[in-house]
Amino acid sequence: MRAPIKAFLLDQRRIAGVGNIYASEALFRAGVHPATPAGRVHKRAAPLLEGVRAALEGGIARRGTTLRDYVDAEGRQGDNAAALLVYGRADEPCVRCGAVIRRRVDAGRATFFCPRCQRR
Ligand SMILES: [Zn+2]
Repeated sequence: MRAPIKAFLLDQRRIAGVGNIYASEALFRAGVHPATPAGRVHKRAAPLLEGVRAALEGGIARRGTTLRDYVDAEGRQGDNAAALLVYGRADEPCVRCGAVIRRRVDAGRATFFCPRCQRR
């Protein structure tokens, strides 16, 4: 498993893909750099799974993430964007350590991460 963990999380063949936004959120929560080879993440597997669970639960509770014009089945806009910890926050201070959040592109998808909390 040499694929970067970010690509691994997005891979629909393995775990029904957690989605681009929640992959960034889960990696931040677990303190895992998005370019870490997936096979090296086993030591951090428990916190990463917890990060995925927490990110998804937060998103579901808030009816999804509105970045453009998403509405749920009842036509209500989601309001999770304000609760995202790193996604969409490039150049803003990290909520944990104050370092500047960075944006990078992995496999054509934007990834947001904290360079201090998520070391390689
Ligand atoms: Zn940080």
